[in-house]
Amino acid sequence: MINAAKEAPAGEEYVFCYLCGADNYEPILRRKGMTVVRCRECGLMYTNPRLDAESLARSYDYDQKDLEWRLKVWKRSRLVAFKRYASEIEPYRETGKLFEIGPGLGWFLQVCAERGWAVTGADLAKIRCEYIRETHGIEVHHGTLEDVFPALEAGTFDVVAAWNVFEHLRDPEGTLRIIEQLLRPGGVTVLKMPDGRALSGMEFPWYLQPLLRLYRRRIYTSTPTHHLVQWTPEHLGQLMSRCGLNLARVDDFVPLEERPIKHLREHLRQALYARLGFPYYFVAFGEKPGAKGTGP
Ligand SMILES: [Zn+2]
Repeated sequence: MINAAKEAPAGEEYVFCYLCGADNYEPILRRKGMTVVRCRECGLMYTNPRLDAESLARSYDYDQKDLEWRLKVWKRSRLVAFKRYASEIEPYRETGKLFEIGPGLGWFLQVCAERGWAVTGADLAKIRCEYIRETHGIEVHHGTLEDVFPALEAGTFDVVAAWNVFEHLRDPEGTLRIIEQLLRPGGVTVLKMPDGRALSGMEFPWYLQPLLRLYRRRIYTSTPTHHLVQWTPEHLGQLMSRCGLNLARVDDFVPLEERPIKHLREHLRQALYARLGFPYYFVAFGEKPGAKGTGP
């Protein structure tokens, strides 16, 4: 997917479209020194050029300070959403096995373990894997999904989850193919990511365009340095079906419950925009064909 024929600035690389493989695009947004482009063939929006593997890896090497900040700012609020989605996956329970890509500090794994799921995962940050082992008693592999895949029993997982991870992937199609192999027939992958629909804006009428411009400038906080693709449910659905998964459900996700009161104004603005048709995040359920599950 790397387009080596084009010379990029130091630490960066050009890529072909993640969805259709074309090299035909126009710039739509510039932020933090990176350019988001839209593919003229399929409409996918992605960062081009993007940071190369080495630059990205350096920036994911989290430290103790990051861990403490997450505990302070995110923990209580994140748990609300995690408990909700732990209920939503119950109908898929059969083997009781769940895998999470990038579990962070392991709160979703912990919530699911409390409900009787056999949980594991893979995370890039060593300090987080250690935290999860020490705090929740859950074993998480240090590395990427690709690294750990050979050690896992394919075709046995009811659920593969990834919260705020998919937009970071350098090879989203490769990862979806591995997810499909891990799932048992009838299993589900649950993926949450920033919603690119408002950034695309193609389908919005002219009278909403000024709001859209404001949204892009002021509200759309997705960072193109680390969010390599600005996914829409439509584009994700296309990639899923190529990988043998059906996009069965899409939830708009407004993270009102995710952060403390001091961000209230930002939350209200996000909620308003979501009502206008520019949701902030979405959660996608991708099912592997087969019987859903025996349920709780
Ligand atoms: Zn394309």
